[in-house]
Amino acid sequence: MDTKHSAWSNALEQLQIVADKISLDPGVLARLKTPKRTLEVAVPVVMDDGSTRVFQGFRVQHNIDRGPAKGGVRFAPTVDSDEVKALAMWMTWKCAVVSIPFGGAKGGVAVDPKILSLGELERLTRRFTSEILPILGPEKDVPAPDMGTNAQTMAWMMDAFSQNVGYAVPGVVTGKPLSIGGSAGREEATGRGVAIVTREIARRMGLTLSGASVAIQGFGNVGKNAALILAREFNCRIVAVSDANGGWYDPRGLDVEILARNSAAGGALPSDFPAERLTNAELLELPCDILIPAALENQISAQNAPRIKPKLLIEAANGPTSPDADPILRANGVTVVPDILANAGGVTVSYFEWVQGRDEYFWSIDEVAQRLERIMVNATNEVWAIAQRENVDLRLAAYISGVGRVSEAMHARGHWG
Ligand code: GLU
Repeated sequence: MDTKHSAWSNALEQLQIVADKISLDPGVLARLKTPKRTLEVAVPVVMDDGSTRVFQGFRVQHNIDRGPAKGGVRFAPTVDSDEVKALAMWMTWKCAVVSIPFGGAKGGVAVDPKILSLGELERLTRRFTSEILPILGPEKDVPAPDMGTNAQTMAWMMDAFSQNVGYAVPGVVTGKPLSIGGSAGREEATGRGVAIVTREIARRMGLTLSGASVAIQGFGNVGKNAALILAREFNCRIVAVSDANGGWYDPRGLDVEILARNSAAGGALPSDFPAERLTNAELLELPCDILIPAALENQISAQNAPRIKPKLLIEAANGPTSPDADPILRANGVTVVPDILANAGGVTVSYFEWVQGRDEYFWSIDEVAQRLERIMVNATNEVWAIAQRENVDLRLAAYISGVGRVSEAMHARGHWG
């Protein structure tokens, strides 16, 4: 990872670029540079061996002008205040780009969930939920899964919240299991959104997806589902995939069905596979048509950008490209589809889950897929049109759309000053 940039300084720099471009009101800009609420909590957990460990937890609500705060909860050793603030800000723009009525938030606990037992994880999740409970609620702030968390984590969060208030409150989280009010299609939603956006942009570029070579960094929920959908539905050739320790490469295409069946829920790939090993750095620099970073922030910076030359770079991860890499990629003719558009499918189906929960009326998987398709295609059309009209890259176009919507809401409400 590039240590020169923090995710938060990257997020601020991206905001400044769009603010300059659209002459954003200085009051609005000053307000958007600071999260609305930042809560840091101690999360004590009695471990299986009887000792007590105290973990650091965070919930940041960046902005709630367009609706309740929305965003995932991350359990990872990298979590710190700056990372969570950046991820919360990106959620504000993401919800605005796809025009769903939410603000942006993010939470996290600095912990490696892979080394905790199931019992320890449950106690950690319940205690974290209790500590941030005063600012949560279906109308206030609605967490969801992110790196290191999943539907089970959301079930524990929903239960901890419900126990506290004395009745079931499914709407306090999204990404829940179906048995307690989850939505059909939520699990694969981010990957499906990535695939839809890839199809839309590839078509405009005249890039044929059938047989196109694709390299994917990260094989967690997002990377795995993107790989499966691109291979199954668009006949893409997935030439490389990786986890935190490196990955597998075959220029003829990997069998992603077998890889998916044999990978762990957290994204760990099988240690034995009939293909070549490669490192994450090598994966990013592979000659390929489409590169999909689907792991951590700051993977592509000015240092490696000169060697990264896919036709299309789809940001399935949040913040994989630091701002100093953008001009280099642009000069090399790489079309970058920014995170706040490319990975918005997840929060879009979270919105569907929240709506279905409010109505107590649940949709079929086809209905979810159709509505997701419509929202992702509309947002892509809009961002593409702005890029053409303003003669800017897709990242700046998405920021013009997202930050523009938030600023409009702030002006309408009139309370940013
Ligand atoms: N964690 C996901 C993201 O980064 C989903 C957030 C949500 O569904 O609220 O977009």
